[in-house]
Formats: sequence, C-alpha cells, structure tokens
Amino acid sequence: MTLDTDVAQNLINTRARIDEVAAVAGRDPGDITLVAVSKTHDADRIRLALEAGHRVFGENRVQEAEEKWPQLKEAFPDAKLHLIGPLQRNKAKRSVQLFDAIETIDRLKLARAVAREMEEQNRRPDCYIQVNTGEEPQKAGVLPGDADDFVCQCRDELGLPIVGLMCIPPAGEEPFMHFALLAKIAERNGLAKLSMGMSGDFEAAVRFGASSVRVGTAIFGSRPSLREPGA
Ligand SMILES: *Cc1c(COP(=O)(O)O)cnc(C)c1O
Repeated sequence: MTLDTDVAQNLINTRARIDEVAAVAGRDPGDITLVAVSKTHDADRIRLALEAGHRVFGENRVQEAEEKWPQLKEAFPDAKLHLIGPLQRNKAKRSVQLFDAIETIDRLKLARAVAREMEEQNRRPDCYIQVNTGEEPQKAGVLPGDADDFVCQCRDELGLPIVGLMCIPPAGEEPFMHFALLAKIAERNGLAKLSMGMSGDFEAAVRFGASSVRVGTAIFGSRPSLREPGA
C-alpha cells in the first residue's frame, strides 16, 4: 500500500488527518472540504478517487481539465471541479463553462471577463480571490494591501459570487503567518471561505481556519515536475 498506488487508501488517510487536526483545534471536520488535486494525472487514476466516493477535485490548467473532465462529469454528475491555477482572460468563457469554483481571480480585467461570462452563460461558479501573501513577484494573486479594494470591486461592483480567499505560501517558508494573514483579510471582508494548505502543510492550514485544503501528491502520488505552471 504505497503512496503512489493506493488512491483510495490515501484519500482515507488524508481525510482522517484533517478530521483529527480539526477535532484538536475545536473545529467541525464537516466544515473542511478536501479538494483532490488531480493535475497531470490521467482520467483512469482520477476514476479511482471517484469510485472511492470522492467528489471534489482541483485542476490547474483549463485545457488539461477540458481533456479529462467532461467525460468524468458525465459518469459522475455530482463531481465538483475547482480551478486552482492562473487563469488567462481569453479562457474565462471555458472556465465558467467547466468549473464549479474558480479560485484564482486576481485582477480586474480577469474579474470583468468572468463576470461577463457568468451573465452570458447564466452560470455562477463560486469565486475565490487569490492573495499573494508572500508578495512574490513571480506569483499570481492580489497583494495583501490591495485585497480589500479588490474584494469590493469584484463583489460589490461586478457582482461576482466571491465566497472566499485562496493563497499559496512561498516555498520553503513557514506557512503559518501566510495562513493567518489570509484568515484576517477574509474576516474583515466578511468572507467565509479559506482555500489554503497543500500536501506539505494542510494540517497547519486546518488549524488556521482553512475551509478547503488542496491536496495532490498525498492522494495521487508524485507528479512529473514539468507541468507545474498554471493555466
Ligand atoms: C499542485 C497544487 C496543489 C497540490 O499540491 P501538492 O503539494 O501536490 O498537494 C495545491 N494548490 C495548487 C494551487 C497547486 O497548483
């Protein structure tokens, strides 16, 4: 039963860790969604998770998701798909069509394009604003200092269904202060959801209030490193 092969068992183990940490933190485990990040893994491998009863997944590239998910959603109509990678404006239409949540809204032009598509398609996937909590130049996300204004613009001016915030802490740094910062920005803006925590730090994220954790490697095994960059 190695990490690489037994997707069903990995799901059980990951869920158990989440539940345990939640209980210790005095949180209701039912308030925490496990988003299984299936990027780079093929449809057969994803099916293992679906057949084990898992229903919430994350992909980071629009085109890759389009290649795998229409058929999977046909077979498992209650499966939910989150976009967790950078989104280009010219893919707003396809994203609104396919995804049940878009976690990477981070600039006004993109927000406008997504709002327009929602109107056009009469479909309203949950939206998260990605915050670049580490203020890393190469990383997507609105800067913490611009977050309040951006939430206002997206939610109040464009009418986007903003449900929460998402972050990816800098690699090699303790994630705690990033999780705490994200939670603070969400709280002062009245946003209930926090998407934070990956295979290496989801337990810490749960302690700091994550409503969903995005776990790939711990469920599906390691990925070829080539395809990391986003949509
Ligand atoms: C790949 C990815 C994850 C999952 O990472 P693991 O370390 O494999 O759990 C989570 N969030 C985002 C945005 C990702 O791109």
